[in-house]
Amino acid sequence: MSDKNPQTLAWQGLSAEHHLAPFSDYQQLKDKGPRIITKAQGVYLWDSEGNKILDGMAGLWCVAVGYGREELVAAASRQMRELPYYNLFFQTAHPPALELAKAIADIAPDGMNHVFFTGSGSEGNDTVLRLVRHYWALKGQPSKKVIIGRVNGYHGSTVAGASLGGMSGMHEQGDLPIPGIVHIPQPYWFGEGGDLPPDEFGVWAAEQLEKKILEVGEANVAAFIAEPIQGAGGVIIPPASYWPKIKEILDRYDILFVADEVICGFGRTGEWFASDYYRLKPDLMTIAKGLTSGYIPMGGVIVRDEVVKVINQGGDFNHGFTYSGHPVAAAVALENIRILREEGIVDEVKTRAAPYLQKRLLELQDHPLVGEVRSLGLLGAVELVKDKVSRERYPGAAMICRQFCFDNGLVMRAVGETMIIAPPLVISCAEIDELLATARKCLDLTLEAVQG
Ligand SMILES: *Cc1c(COP(=O)(O)O)cnc(C)c1O
Repeated sequence: MSDKNPQTLAWQGLSAEHHLAPFSDYQQLKDKGPRIITKAQGVYLWDSEGNKILDGMAGLWCVAVGYGREELVAAASRQMRELPYYNLFFQTAHPPALELAKAIADIAPDGMNHVFFTGSGSEGNDTVLRLVRHYWALKGQPSKKVIIGRVNGYHGSTVAGASLGGMSGMHEQGDLPIPGIVHIPQPYWFGEGGDLPPDEFGVWAAEQLEKKILEVGEANVAAFIAEPIQGAGGVIIPPASYWPKIKEILDRYDILFVADEVICGFGRTGEWFASDYYRLKPDLMTIAKGLTSGYIPMGGVIVRDEVVKVINQGGDFNHGFTYSGHPVAAAVALENIRILREEGIVDEVKTRAAPYLQKRLLELQDHPLVGEVRSLGLLGAVELVKDKVSRERYPGAAMICRQFCFDNGLVMRAVGETMIIAPPLVISCAEIDELLATARKCLDLTLEAVQG
């Protein structure tokens, strides 16, 4: 007899019998059944067994303003009554999409004033692929088609998104990447830097971009796409030398730069966009996640004026989604941006929450299992090791730690042997204290388990 409540068992039965889950081991899911999340408030989730869980991942990096914001609910219901759906195809538009495009242009970097809306981040990156090739064709350089991405980058799960990304597990399934997409190494110093000092490794990793441009030929390269900070790859914050060197290289070659801001955008780094933080000058930025705080699906691409000027002269752009700029999603995004602005949440991240999280996270460095702690804004990572000097790992430690976290009321994600967090932007200092206390306890339990 299971000690789970009958409702939990019933839902788990539905999962086994009817549901194909994203990014899940199906056999394992069948054997154990999913944890069923039933409600949420602030930074907390509740499961069907009544457990209260601190959501250290803001859902999937998206619930910026926290759960239970009535203003977002009201914005959605108002819009559903007024105009639940109309499309933006064939010379029509509606107020929420247009007003949202303006609100995004207001917070986007200078010179980025137009938005193409999609239903998700993946669709945003599909749009990027088509837009950058369309752009070069219109400029009379149709050979410029190749897009350079990075190993272990994440750009979504559609065919183009997974191809632009550099996740080997995704490439193995379905013959990806598609032709015309190549990858360079990632700036992951702790994992791959070896004996090089971080700054030297950062320069080396950046130089791989130039090497690849020369190998493919500048005349064949359309764009370079990268997350300012890799999220799903393990909260990889590049060495300080990396972005300046990349910028230098981008200045030397006539290729477009796409910043995938799906995680970093809308305040996660303490600036509106990580492109502001690193002073990047992207030509296109992919957005999603924090755009609506995850209350409703929406993504898009913000496009620089020079690029818009070219595509404006190109006749039809034969691309779009039924739900591009969906009015209800747009109304929620507008309200979400209003909350972020009026409550000063982005500045709060920069001046209060991020410094406090960093201070508390760094205290974990004395733990025997911890090889490195890094954070920027409200993105954090803890590297689990057996030996702090050689960086040798305990294979499987992170998955064990993740389970201990769940069982002790905290969602932390495991990537390889790295524990990562990205809590809601509104997390209080007391909640950060709770997060760190639970994390330390779970590191202790994990150490005990791996030393068994
Ligand atoms: C989540 C993510 C995507 C994909 O967004 P979806 O809405 O899941 O399609 C793309 N890029 C980055 C950096 C992401 O983190």
